[in-house]
Amino acid sequence: MLDSCSQESRPLLSIENALDSIKAAIQPVSGTEKLTLKNALGRVLAESVYSPINIPRDRNAAMDGYAFSSCGRVDGQAFMLALVGTSWAGRPFQGQLQAGQCVRIFTGAVVPEQADSVIMQEQVQVHEQSVYFPADTRVLQNIREIGEDVNEGYCLLAQPKKLTAVDLGLLASAGVDQVTVKRQVKIAHFSTGDELTALGRPLEPGKIYDSNRIMLGGLLAGPSYSVTDLGVIPDNKQLLEDSFIAASKNHDVIITTGGASVGEADYVKEILQNCGKVNFWKMAIKPGKPLAFGKIGQCHFFGLPGNPVAVVVTYQQIVAPALRQLSGAPLAKPLRLTATCITALKKAPGRQEYQRGILSQDECGEFFVATAGRQGSNILSSMSQSDCYIVLPRECAGVPAGDKVIVEPFSLLI
Ligand code: AMP
Ligand code: MG
Repeated sequence: MLDSCSQESRPLLSIENALDSIKAAIQPVSGTEKLTLKNALGRVLAESVYSPINIPRDRNAAMDGYAFSSCGRVDGQAFMLALVGTSWAGRPFQGQLQAGQCVRIFTGAVVPEQADSVIMQEQVQVHEQSVYFPADTRVLQNIREIGEDVNEGYCLLAQPKKLTAVDLGLLASAGVDQVTVKRQVKIAHFSTGDELTALGRPLEPGKIYDSNRIMLGGLLAGPSYSVTDLGVIPDNKQLLEDSFIAASKNHDVIITTGGASVGEADYVKEILQNCGKVNFWKMAIKPGKPLAFGKIGQCHFFGLPGNPVAVVVTYQQIVAPALRQLSGAPLAKPLRLTATCITALKKAPGRQEYQRGILSQDECGEFFVATAGRQGSNILSSMSQSDCYIVLPRECAGVPAGDKVIVEPFSLLI
């Protein structure tokens, strides 16, 4: 299919084909490191973890009440037991429970060996050292059995897994205090362009502030990545080439923005043809048509477009899955949902579009989406106001209000 918006004669590369090519070219980093749990949040587990203990290790009470043995009890009859002690959480009852006796017990406290039941404190009457159990007392209840969460030797977490706060809690419950994780992916990024002005400097005629670099730094923030901001490189062939080569020596990935299309000052292509193996793709997505992907030595290279919205879209749709694969994390597709579009959307057939939308939900749970406004690839304000992409397929020629559309909420992007 040709892009009707351009004079292209070469077919555009679909996003699926681009992702497949990238997937085939990337191997997860092989290095690992040992970390304490405190430092492991969000890192990718490199070795599965097996539980060294039963969880729970001891039979314990599921609520505050009284622990007793159901042995010898006649069904449907009220009964009385003598209160002989207390089992506190962390301080078990030390004695032996005899027939006719019970102990006060608190949630998490060890249940005495002779007891098989715990009754809630609200269900009994206590008078001095006597506890009166009602006729409808249920037995064999409210005890957490040994290993009912995890048995000793069972797999707590299988690699590869991106460790969540809950995963760390699970490991801690087994007493595991260290994990082996994949090493961080080392990423260098920079902006290119003579027009770019660093923040804090006055804006001279014809110049713009560099918004891509701070934005890309934010998009790259994450525990599995170690990110180096290499600043702005002007449109100077020698400087760009030197920067690419230097960064390729001690990083796994270089990401640049700008200079990757075919203008007079777009040197990225020329330089990479000299010093690396890089493909220049014209992709069938909007925004974000030009994209460079390849390698300089052992370092992967992503040359993103210059326009800020195109940077975000190509990062999220193409670079982020590639980095995830490099980090060793399991691949996952972004979650999508169907929503009714409440505004008409303009689109020409040819490229898959990622339009910025604002998502809402009514009281029945139905999703609705409205355009976030102007859709130019330089319009960062509508990107900032939006909370989802409205994904319009290549062949789509516009959407009338009331039609169903596919939506990718930003909060569900991986
Ligand atoms: P280029 O791909 O270099 O031709 O850039 C395309 C457009 O994106 C131009 O309008 C650039 O001024 C703009 N642009 C490039 N880099 C940045 C940046 N770091 N921050 C903001 N805009 C940029
Ligand atoms: Mg430029």
